[in-house]
Parts: sequence; structure tokens; C-alpha cells
Amino acid sequence: MTPNDSASPDDHATPDQPVGSAATLSEQDQRAVELLIEHGFDVEAACAAEPALRARIVAASGLFARVDRYPVEPIDPSLIDATLARIDRDDAARSERMRVTPERSAVGGRGRWADFIAVACVALLAVSVGVPLLSQLQHRKEIEGCAANMRAIGSALATYSGDFNGRPIAAGLAPDLGALTSWAGYDNSRHLDVLHQRGYCAPECLCCGNDGDRQGYASQVPNERMNLAWRQPSHLPLLADRNPLIVRTILGRPIGTAVENSLDHGGDGQNVLFADLAISFEASPVLRVRLSADGDAIEENIWVPADRRGFQDDLHAPSEWSAIDVFLMQ
Ligand SMILES: [Zn+2]
Repeated sequence: MTPNDSASPDDHATPDQPVGSAATLSEQDQRAVELLIEHGFDVEAACAAEPALRARIVAASGLFARVDRYPVEPIDPSLIDATLARIDRDDAARSERMRVTPERSAVGGRGRWADFIAVACVALLAVSVGVPLLSQLQHRKEIEGCAANMRAIGSALATYSGDFNGRPIAAGLAPDLGALTSWAGYDNSRHLDVLHQRGYCAPECLCCGNDGDRQGYASQVPNERMNLAWRQPSHLPLLADRNPLIVRTILGRPIGTAVENSLDHGGDGQNVLFADLAISFEASPVLRVRLSADGDAIEENIWVPADRRGFQDDLHAPSEWSAIDVFLMQ
């Protein structure tokens, strides 16, 4: 398909159309473009919708691929941020206008795609702005879904605590750390299983939506000192997305000294549920916390256990853990 196709005899060019006017697409080519857009540029899906237009759909797809390869300046991230901020501002007040109704979709607006240049410009915008924007919106949606899981867990913990006067993460469930040679051999997420086993929350709430292996959220490894701290509402981290260092240890890779975010949300940060049931997306695993009500705030890497010398420098043998710090693992 090329812009010159519309000069063919079976197309809708009329004698009134001035010579040298802007190139237009034939009706069938317009339909082919619409089908591609409706089916998310999936050629086979578009062809399945209207097999008779296969040749034109394939040609249109080739045209978009050429446009896609056209060199463009990298999109300024501030443009995406500004767009997202504007969406946030308008979202509450104009939710109805944000909704794309069937009447306003490409199906009913065939004529809007008639101008070839407009189609090319829209394709360029879709590639350079639309795709990163959709990716950002999806990223944000995943973080919000994960936070909703944590709200459900927080609510379940509060109810469980009221019913049993204790948390499922209890000293009675403390592991025999002396028998462990590596944290990779310890399944900490099992402490939360009682929440869904007793109907306090749905099982899917106990995993981030991006946790394809269903390993479960990282939570505080049980110990006496931290259990005491949780009896009062405190802003101590209780649960988070998966600990990336444990993932690395299980894979037999070295830990190193880098401060890393969970991989559940692209390494941008991690959702954290605190003991006071607050939830926030933290851009770093190093948080300032107070281990006791009258103590000073200290920096805690929630992924690393402090050893008996007080250092948070690696995942040493579990028997070396001081058991007085925040240490979340799945
Ligand atoms: Zn998550």
C-alpha cells in the first residue's frame, strides 16, 4: 500500500479533487488501518477480522513498520511526567471524558484516517509518546494493585491480631537459624499462609502481581525483639515486595555491596507495608526507622540482616544474624 494507491480506478478519487492535493487512502486501505489499530497492530488478528483485506492489512503494517524505523529524537521524560500529572489532575473531575466510548472509537470515525499524513503523524506520536506513556501508566497500575494487596494483608493482620492477640509472624514460629547454612534455604513467606488458610484474605493477596513464581511477599523474619516492637503501632517495615538479594542467593549469584530495589517493579522501588498499616512505595531499601519508641532513628537496609557485630554488609550465615534489626525476606 502506498499513498499512490488511491489513484487507482476502483478508488474514490473524484474529478473534483484538485491535482496535487494531499494524498489520501482508499476506503479499503482506511479500513485496513482501522483494523490494525483496533487490534493493537496484531496483523493476524486484524486479518482474522476481515480476511478479504489481508493484502492491504499486511501492506499497512509494513508502512507502519517503516514509520516506526524512522529516526526520532528520544522522548523527553518530562513530557511523559507532565502528561501523567495532567491526567492525575483531571482524572477525578473528568473521569467520564477519559472513557473511550465505542461511538468515539476508530470504527465510527473512518473519515478521520483519510489523510495519509495524519495517519503517519499519529503513528509517530504513538511510537514516540504513546508507547512510553502507556508503559508508565501500566507500571503505575501494577504498583497500585500491589499496594491494594498490602492493604488487604494489613487489614487481615489487624483482624487476626484482634482474634488471637498476636500476629501470625510470632516468636513461636521462629526458625532454627543454627541449622541453616544459607538464607536461601529458609521459606519465610509461609508464616503469612495462615491468613488465607483461615479466610482472612484471598491467597492471591499474598503475592505481588509481578511475582510470576508466586514466592510471596518479603516479610519480617520472626524474632523476639521485633515482635515486641510490633505490639505498639509503630512505623516499622513489616512486609515488602520480594527481596532481590534472596532471589540472587537462590540463583547462586554473589550479593555484592550494591543497594538494590526489588525486581518486582522494574527496580524502581518497592511497596512497603509498615506495622502501623501505612503503605508507601519506597525508592530505596534503606529506610530510616526507630527500633524502639525512645530510640534514635537509624538507617536500615530492609533486605540485609545485621550480623552480631552490627554490620549490614552481606547475607551471612543465618546463625550470625543479630536478630534485632529489620530484615524482610520471602
Ligand atoms: Zn509489588
